[in-house]
Amino acid sequence: MYGILYWLVAVGSATSWHLRQVRVLAELADERTYLGVPPVSWTTGPKSHWRVPLGPNRYLTHPWRLREALAEADRAEYGPMPEGRQLCYHCQLPTNEPIPVDAEARTNGVGQITYACPTHAPLYPTDQHPRTLTSAPATEHEGRR
Ligand SMILES: [Zn+2]
Repeated sequence: MYGILYWLVAVGSATSWHLRQVRVLAELADERTYLGVPPVSWTTGPKSHWRVPLGPNRYLTHPWRLREALAEADRAEYGPMPEGRQLCYHCQLPTNEPIPVDAEARTNGVGQITYACPTHAPLYPTDQHPRTLTSAPATEHEGRR
């Protein structure tokens, strides 16, 4: 189980990603984000640390590869992205990040899927809470396969 993961990518290389549970900080031209980073020597948890140790010419993540890995994790976790925007079961607002929280299986094979926005997905009353991104991308990124 992982908490929040951050990747550093070149400015402007991650626009229009539209991945569920993924935020692109400073995506907008007039947006500023200050992100506290741990000292270079912090390379193990549980406190915030560098999973990939920082080094010369090795602080930016390749944006295409990262996007591919995140998109794969998105599909693995949440299934295919539904067509169009879906309404959140809780706030009834359309969301660009529809997270499936429940699927009603029907005999004819066409199930009704309940979606939630990222804010309300954890609130859905079920034993099986939506999981965060798996460790697959992180593992791949670190070359630990
Ligand atoms: Zn909602």
